[in-house]
Amino acid sequence: MRIDIMTLFPDAVYAMMNESIIGRAQKKGIIKIHCHQIRNYTTNKQNQVDDYPYGGGHGCIMQAQPLHACWEHICGEIGFRAHTIYLSPCGRVFTQADAVRLKDNYTNLILVCGHYEGIDERFIDECVDEEISIGDFVLTGGEIPAMALADAVCRLVPGVLSDEECYTDESHWSGLLEYPQYSRPEVWNGRKVPEILLSGHHANIAKWRRKQAIIRTRLRRPDMYEKLEFTTKQDKKLLAEIEEELNKKEEDNNGKQD
Ligand code: SAM
Repeated sequence: MRIDIMTLFPDAVYAMMNESIIGRAQKKGIIKIHCHQIRNYTTNKQNQVDDYPYGGGHGCIMQAQPLHACWEHICGEIGFRAHTIYLSPCGRVFTQADAVRLKDNYTNLILVCGHYEGIDERFIDECVDEEISIGDFVLTGGEIPAMALADAVCRLVPGVLSDEECYTDESHWSGLLEYPQYSRPEVWNGRKVPEILLSGHHANIAKWRRKQAIIRTRLRRPDMYEKLEFTTKQDKKLLAEIEEELNKKEEDNNGKQD
């Protein structure tokens, strides 16, 4: 997987993407992340990349010309028109399923980071295949969204993480949030690790973890919980146990308030 990032702040992106797991995967040659300074593709003396918006309004818009010249340079370097994503608050909100889709379908991605008030729509019309948002809020630039997307995609590339289970056992892979996790010591600040996790009984631990994941998803993300389908006998039994426990908790809480 090769990801080319078009940005006004390549050093900031490299500083993050050359560290830790993603940095090590690049050193091993499993993935490649290249940043391109959009400013280097201007045709004016001041290397200006933005100008006022037609129709009025505050702020500046990144012009189509340097974006297009930078994009053409990358496509030329790669040898084909790579799938191009503009990180934008107007895009569809990014999910784990998008990370899997992008990893499965493309060997190359070009990520375009906007700044100021955004970018000229004509560049989007001409070069962008999809617009992706990382959430319903607005940031000052597309660098953090581009890094978030690149990280989420790259960690799924075989060899980046030690083992496939590192991500298939995590939140959002199968529609559930992850169960609570603990590490040493067994007691910290008077708080004990749940007894079951110290038992060494793998089947019971797996059952406890699934139950906690279901409870957590139900309480924290009812939108995700609604989409889940529980078909196995074991899951149906767990659901009955959860129902009973949550009802009891509610009764206890009501009792305390009375
Ligand atoms: N005027 C734009 C609007 O209202 O939609 C917002 C522009 S924003 C200040 C500047 C740049 O940050 C955008 O061009 C985009 O690349 C990036 N950006 C900001 N929020 C984002 C988000 N939630 N997801 C992805 N990119 C975002």
